[in-house]
Amino acid sequence: MQDFEDVRWRLVQRREELRDRLQRFEDQLNAPADPDVEDRSVEREDDEPMETLGLSGQRELTAIDAALKRFADGTFGVCVTCGDTISDARLALLPHTPFCKTCAPSD
Ligand SMILES: [Zn+2]
Repeated sequence: MQDFEDVRWRLVQRREELRDRLQRFEDQLNAPADPDVEDRSVEREDDEPMETLGLSGQRELTAIDAALKRFADGTFGVCVTCGDTISDARLALLPHTPFCKTCAPSD
């Protein structure tokens, strides 16, 4: 059994970071519109990239939560598709991945 404590620590840290960032996104999105801005279409264009970023952050957060749950279950580091051990090098790069290199849909 490998020792994943450092990986788990990184996931916990990353989760906190993402939660902070997503909270800030939400605050910005919910902020009242500037009454001086006449052209709303310009304003809306500015919102889009921010929402996209929020969405990718949300996805990563979901993946991290799932990874931490696998820690609790004792299945962390094992591919959810084929059951093979995920390599240390891969976990160092993508600590929240549920797939081994062979089963990963991309990368
Ligand atoms: Zn696999």
